[in-house]
Amino acid sequence: MAVIEGEAIVLRAVDYGESDLIAHLLLPDVGRMTVVAKHARKSQKRFPGSLDLFNHLRVRVSRKKLSGLGFLEQAALISPFIPLRENPVRYALASYLIELMDRMAPEDGARADTRRLFDFALSALGALTVEFPDPRLRLFFELRAFDALGLRPGLANCVRCGAEPRTGQVGFHVADGGIICEAHGTDGRAGIVTVHLGTLRALAKSLDSEIGQLGRLQLSTQAIEEAQEILFRFHRFHLGFELKSERFLEESLSGGRLTAATP
Ligand SMILES: [Zn+2]
Repeated sequence: MAVIEGEAIVLRAVDYGESDLIAHLLLPDVGRMTVVAKHARKSQKRFPGSLDLFNHLRVRVSRKKLSGLGFLEQAALISPFIPLRENPVRYALASYLIELMDRMAPEDGARADTRRLFDFALSALGALTVEFPDPRLRLFFELRAFDALGLRPGLANCVRCGAEPRTGQVGFHVADGGIICEAHGTDGRAGIVTVHLGTLRALAKSLDSEIGQLGRLQLSTQAIEEAQEILFRFHRFHLGFELKSERFLEESLSGGRLTAATP
């Protein structure tokens, strides 16, 4: 029997059987973990209001083996991130982030990766409770999540030869995970997205900014559209699915598309 004690974020919770819940948790040293919370829907004592989405918890989980399904023994609420539940755009962004984590986080992944991902998710949820809920944050969150998982796109130099791009536009090679110079971008344009250097600079800046500062980054409408295209293709290539909350987010924003925030 292995026991894990520490922090967790609730990524998902569904009813199971008569009185149990099955939850997906994000744990700093494990990654994503599926746990059964026995009698969670009957006993308010053991898990008092703690298994709601986004909740930051302190948990005790036991597992019969070193990997696989866990049993939630205890859960205490550290933070419910209340403001995320009170504003539709905040809620949509937090749902997007949490779904991203649920899909991307490895189960029993490398500890350095899972810890980076957990720290990112926690600080992003925290930032969302105080920052102006700017829909552009979704792009930055997605980029930062890839970065935390070691899938940082190459934005400054050609991924094949290291050359720095000089012209105003450059190709982003989705499968190679970064930009490619003219010399390497001539063999077939399939899988290549054309972007302006300004877009790449803005995205690079978002990778190096504090999470709480992301909402202050300037992005032109053109940069938003290009960044969306890169991330959409990058996401599809690496993960191969569309997030449910993506549509919900689009619908909760006026006009359906991400637009530049009005200052
Ligand atoms: Zn090159």
